[in-house]
Amino acid sequence: MAHGIENPKTWTWFDGEWLEGNPPLIGPRSHAFWLGTSVFDGARAFEGVTPDLDLHCARTNRSARAVGLEPTMREEEILEIAKDGLTRFSRDAELYIRPSYWGEVDHPRLAIGADPASTRFALSLWEAPMIPPTGISVTLSRFRRPTIECMPTDAKASCLYPNNARTAREARDKGFDNALVLDMLGNVAELASANVFMVKDGVVMTPVPNGTFLAGITRARTIDLLRKAGTPVVEKSLKYEDFLGADEMFSTGNYTKVMPIVRFENRELEPGPVYRLARRLYWDFAHA
Ligand code: PMP
Repeated sequence: MAHGIENPKTWTWFDGEWLEGNPPLIGPRSHAFWLGTSVFDGARAFEGVTPDLDLHCARTNRSARAVGLEPTMREEEILEIAKDGLTRFSRDAELYIRPSYWGEVDHPRLAIGADPASTRFALSLWEAPMIPPTGISVTLSRFRRPTIECMPTDAKASCLYPNNARTAREARDKGFDNALVLDMLGNVAELASANVFMVKDGVVMTPVPNGTFLAGITRARTIDLLRKAGTPVVEKSLKYEDFLGADEMFSTGNYTKVMPIVRFENRELEPGPVYRLARRLYWDFAHA
């Protein structure tokens, strides 16, 4: 079958072997299929570089532990497998790189839990074109990010994503690309699938990590690069109203990297100087 958007060229490492396509690795009796115990991470390859791939591999293991799975791979091993997988594609291929763990067997004594000894690992890479930075539109979601008392927000866990997906669906149905999501206290948390920054009167601000949202690797990298370039970034509690008055907004995440927000509700925004600086610094870092 020809490879395309619906069927991207994909390779998956599982149990020491590289498998092509979409091999059936879990079944109806797999714990993850039934009760959702699975975690993943996502990194990118493009233009021959893989920025922060090591950090994404390391986070996979932290996520696994946070949902009661026992990582079967060392961080360095995950990185080696990812690098080995890259050799199955052209040097400048645009890829998504996704290590994952899941629980295979029900725990013998723990109701509804997975047996940590049954933790399985797979790493997939597939062709996924980089998104041109033409910008996205964003609207407020009526759904919220849970606190850690409600959900394993300290893990990049698959079980968080149906909630994120409904915020994205709601936004799309209103004619927007993405949603601004609040936490339970009404502070801005993040977008459905990325972190968010705003600029007001020259001050760059982003929500302070408070355990409700994924404080992303691209977010941390962007803050660090901006600060080192002499542009302070303030991490603080921010409200929806703060964003309504923003001069600039942009998002960060592994998938689209640094992306301008060009419409917030009914307001058009220009991709501004801080966005442009952040994106350039990120690309320079990626190629360094
Ligand atoms: N928040 C959510 C909900 C995400 O899914 C992602 C991307 N995986 C991010 C933030 C950005 O995180 P990172 O920069 O680590 O990819």
